[in-house]
Amino acid sequence: MTTTDTTRPRSVADDGLTTELAELRRTVEEFANEVVDPKAAENYRNHTFDYDIVSRMGELGLFGLPFPEEYGGMGGDYFALGVALEELARVDQSVAITLEGGCSLGAMPIYRFGTGEQKQRWLPDLLAGRAIAGFGLTEPEAGSDAGGTKTTARLEDGHWVINGSKQFITNSGTDITSLVTTTAVTGTREDGRKEISAIIVPTDTPGFTAEPAYDKVGWNSSDTHPLSYDDARVPEENLLGMRGRGFAQFLSILAEGRVALAALATGAAQGCVDEAAAYARQRTSFGRTISEYQGVSFKIARMEARAWSARQAWRAAATKMLTGADFSREASVAKLVASEAAMDNARDATQVFGGAGFMNETRVARHYRDSKILEIGEGTTEVQLMLIARSLGLEG
Ligand SMILES: Cc1cc2nc3c(=O)[nH]c(=O)nc-3n(C[C@H](O)[C@H](O)[C@H](O)COP(=O)(O)OP(=O)(O)OC[C@H]3O[C@@H](n4cnc5c(N)ncnc54)[C@H](O)[C@@H]3O)c2cc1C
Repeated sequence: MTTTDTTRPRSVADDGLTTELAELRRTVEEFANEVVDPKAAENYRNHTFDYDIVSRMGELGLFGLPFPEEYGGMGGDYFALGVALEELARVDQSVAITLEGGCSLGAMPIYRFGTGEQKQRWLPDLLAGRAIAGFGLTEPEAGSDAGGTKTTARLEDGHWVINGSKQFITNSGTDITSLVTTTAVTGTREDGRKEISAIIVPTDTPGFTAEPAYDKVGWNSSDTHPLSYDDARVPEENLLGMRGRGFAQFLSILAEGRVALAALATGAAQGCVDEAAAYARQRTSFGRTISEYQGVSFKIARMEARAWSARQAWRAAATKMLTGADFSREASVAKLVASEAAMDNARDATQVFGGAGFMNETRVARHYRDSKILEIGEGTTEVQLMLIARSLGLEG
């Protein structure tokens, strides 16, 4: 079977990037091509979480990109993280989501809301890729309606005693997972609603269990587990941020995460363009390369337009975030546009490949399976539409 697996065209320009960011992009592109890509198909087939790749991403400083040097970070920001995620996702979404989850969902809550002591204790290993953390929000009855949290934490003898379960938690069951930040109901507010707090649960806590990993449709080499808490006791000091602020904290973390996920989705969309263009140039049908048929070339042109638009959207959201202004609307727009671009491009790239696109060994087949979750995780498409509508004063 003929595929483009040995040649990858470079199509993402350094347009609009500073010299420093362009250098970062090229470094990550090289890493993605030389280290990640050669192992991607086998890791996918075997559902392997690749510790060596994680460790090498740590050595490159990728887990520390948006964090200050004080904790071992690179002193960059979300824009830099987005640039790195795009390049990784072009070849392997599983590796990219491992980084995105590790930075935006794992370490960021500790950095944003942790005490000095909590930061000193957990961040250096997380930012070096020696450890990774999970973000435990979703529950069987609390997904889009994340306030439906049923997991409870009660204070007893200076400890939080946690009971309940979480589902679909990224990076929560690897050998190097050090903690899962967990939302739990810690009481009732004055207005009668649930008081939800965030608590750091180290993975060696008795009563905490990462249940067997899911058998997923895609993102095969990323780590995802259901979690259970059975009288899991952690010191009272493991409260993250203010008591009762856990839900609000997690929502702000999710808004940032959407920008990162949009960058990841852009990389996937661009990867599909690159693959489809290379394949169309060399595949012949009826005596011509299929790129000579407008039915094919227009499809790829439309894919390029989607990837480009997605890139503008996440970069605009990241730029606004860095000004300190409210960027939640832009984050939702970027997440919506980029995840749809990835899914649409994956479908079209698979079509350009014909039967070869249905073979798991090709990158487009992996993008086809991987991209669906981009329209679901960190807030579904419908949740983004709800948030955008609300920003227009259209309450529903
Ligand atoms: C691979 C993977 C990794 C994940 N990683 C994490 C993680 O690390 N941490 C974490 O906490 N969670 C994680 N999640 C969970 C993810 O964020 C949720 O699956 C997602 O938010 C949707 O929640 P749900 O699955 O309960 O779907 P539901 O909320 O049950 O939604 C079902 C459908 O109903 C729609 N819907 C719901 N409410 C409305 C409404 N009001 N109006 C219109 N439509 C609506 C939804 O859009 C969706 O189409 C992960 C999920 C997956 C699959």
